[in-house]
Amino acid sequence: MLVGVPKEIKNQESRVGLTPASVKELTLRGHQVLVQTNAGTAIGLTDAMYLGAGASIVDTAKEVFARAEMIVKVKEPQAQECAMLHEDQILYTYLHLAPDPEQTRALMASGAVCLAYETITGANGGLPLLAPMSEVAGRMAIQAGAAHLEKSKGGMGLLLGGVPGVAPGHIAIIGAGVVGTNALQMAVGIGARVTILDKNIDRLRQLDLIYGNRVATRYSNAHSIEEAVFDADLVVGGVLVPGAAAPKLVTAAMIARMKPGAVVVDVAIDQGGCFETSHATTHEQPTYVVDGVVHYCVANMPGAVARTSTFALNNATIAHALALADKGWRRAVAANPHLKQGLNVCHGHVTYEAVAHALGYTY
Ligand code: NAD
Repeated sequence: MLVGVPKEIKNQESRVGLTPASVKELTLRGHQVLVQTNAGTAIGLTDAMYLGAGASIVDTAKEVFARAEMIVKVKEPQAQECAMLHEDQILYTYLHLAPDPEQTRALMASGAVCLAYETITGANGGLPLLAPMSEVAGRMAIQAGAAHLEKSKGGMGLLLGGVPGVAPGHIAIIGAGVVGTNALQMAVGIGARVTILDKNIDRLRQLDLIYGNRVATRYSNAHSIEEAVFDADLVVGGVLVPGAAAPKLVTAAMIARMKPGAVVVDVAIDQGGCFETSHATTHEQPTYVVDGVVHYCVANMPGAVARTSTFALNNATIAHALALADKGWRRAVAANPHLKQGLNVCHGHVTYEAVAHALGYTY
């Protein structure tokens, strides 16, 4: 199969659909790969590396879209990319169609076969092509929180790990899923005192077995959240209620009673956020202050570490990319019910129930 990798064009996006290592996996199996020039240059993946992996380099996205049988990307296609897709071409990327009727219409009009990373399921449950970005965001949350506790960034001037003779800071993590447990690992590593809260007691049991009394686990309710938040120097929000907006677990009144110069990192902001005072921010202007509390609410945290994120994403996407290239989409989807869950738009029809339901299409 001829596989194409255009350079991402969404604002501030430096990730790339395939790394040179992934290209090599494809070319070793006899597939051809077309990569748009400079597709990975911003994160140190040069055209020379892609050539070395067996790809051909072309100048424009137009050439990639015109020739490739499968397009591999990271972000949802922008309007000019949708216009270049053609009948029966495979599009394999994040799509997030439910809140995006315009993109959905454009993909339907293209006649392409569109597989969304975010709806592909895993053999052990969960969404394995979303998990790597939650891992990145969870780990970054502590890094971002630690940086913004510094005086020059608006924080109280606190070193989370403390020093001999000075107590460490207190990190409260709300939600013990992928984001929360990755934040926990960093929080423990940095030497902070840590409290983690979740409604899932089995999850708290697992963490208790791993970390023992190094970490305080709390069942999440209004009372325990209040206690943890008032005492914390840094609060990380990583809750998810599948298919719903994030619950506002930390109210504006609680924020007003936090320590001055404390920091909150609302990772769940892409689902509306779990702090009542949260609104989405960008990497250029990541924070704002409410009642003396610094709010970091960047909706696309993994974009800041685009190199790590690209490798992590490729680890999760390459197996299905190989199956699609080896078998063609019909046989690949027939052979794997988890990949089939990724099929969102096919030959002009919405083929994913939740998207059809959200946008009023028949399914
Ligand atoms: P997950 O499903 O692995 O974990 C969510 C956890 O929240 C679960 O353990 C669940 O039991 C817990 N939870 C639900 N209600 C709760 C409550 N009332 N109190 C405490 N815990 C509660 O999800 P995840 O992969 O960790 O993702 C978390 C959020 O982070 C999602 O909204 C995801 O989209 C978002 N995210 C954001 C970014 C970003 O750049 N901002 C990046 C990746 C993920």
